[in-house]
Amino acid sequence: MPWIPPELRKDAGEIEAARARRLPALVEVGAVRGDLHVHTTYTDGRDELEAMVRACAARGYAYVAITDHTQAVRVAGGLDASGFRRQARAIDGLRRTIGGMAILHGAEVDILEDGALDLDDAALAALDYVVASVHSKLTMPEPDMTRRVLRALESPFVTALGHPTGRLLGKREPYALDMPRIARAARELGVLLEINAQPERLDLCDVHVRLAREAGAKLVVATDAHAVAELGFMRHGIDQARRGWCAAADIANTAPLAEFLELIGRRRRAATAARGSRPAGSAASA
Ligand SMILES: [Zn+2]
Ligand SMILES: [Zn+2]
Repeated sequence: MPWIPPELRKDAGEIEAARARRLPALVEVGAVRGDLHVHTTYTDGRDELEAMVRACAARGYAYVAITDHTQAVRVAGGLDASGFRRQARAIDGLRRTIGGMAILHGAEVDILEDGALDLDDAALAALDYVVASVHSKLTMPEPDMTRRVLRALESPFVTALGHPTGRLLGKREPYALDMPRIARAARELGVLLEINAQPERLDLCDVHVRLAREAGAKLVVATDAHAVAELGFMRHGIDQARRGWCAAADIANTAPLAEFLELIGRRRRAATAARGSRPAGSAASA
C-alpha cells in the first residue's frame, strides 16, 4: 500500500483509496500562483494598496486580486462605485510601475439579505474579480440562507463565494447552508468556492472541501489578508485543501495566468455575449 499523507488519515476511505492506487497527489503551497482575496487601507486593511501589491509580487505570484469591501460593511468603511473607480485609477498606476505580475481589480461584495449584491451591474462589470460574501443576518434558517446565496451566485459577475459558511473558530458557528446544493450550483454556474486561509476561519472546512471537490466544483485558496504579514496564511489554506483531498488541479489559483484568466472570464463573456445578442434577437423577431 502506498504511503498515506497524514492529512488523510481519518478513516474516511483513505485506506481503500491507497489500496486501489487512487490517492490524490495533494496540492503543495509552492503550486499557488496568486492570492485572490486581499484588503487594503481603502477599507479595513492595515497596509496600503501598493505595499500589499509589492508584497504579493515579492512572493513570486503571477497574479493578485485586490478585493476591498463594499458599502454594506460600514464598520470596514466599504467603498461605493465611485470609491472603486478611484481605486481602479490607483491600480492602473501600479500596473505601469510593477511588472511581472497581473494586478486584478476586485471587490469583496456583500450578499444582501435578499441575495442581491451590494454593487450595481455596471460597477461589477468594471471589476476583474468579484468575491461575494455574507457578512450580515447570519442566523437565517437554512432554506432562506441557501436561497440567498444561490441568488448571489447566479450573478454572472460573481467569480467566487467568499468564506462560504461564515464560521469563526471558537467564536461563531457556521451559518446554516445546504452545502451539497451550493457545491452543485457552483459547478453548474462556474463559480469558485473559496477556502479562506485566515486561521480563525479555515472556511470551507475539510469535509466541505472534499464534498465540493467530489461535486466537481472548483476551489480557490485565498488569504483574506488585511496586512502584508497575513499573506503568509496561504499555507494554512493549502493545508485545509489537502485535508479535503485536493490536488493542484482542483485549486483554480494554481493555474498559470492565461489559464486562470480564461477560467474566471468564461461566465462574464457568456453574459456579455447574451446581453449583446438580445437586442438583435428581439429586432429579428419583431
Ligand atoms: Zn469577508
Ligand atoms: Zn475579506
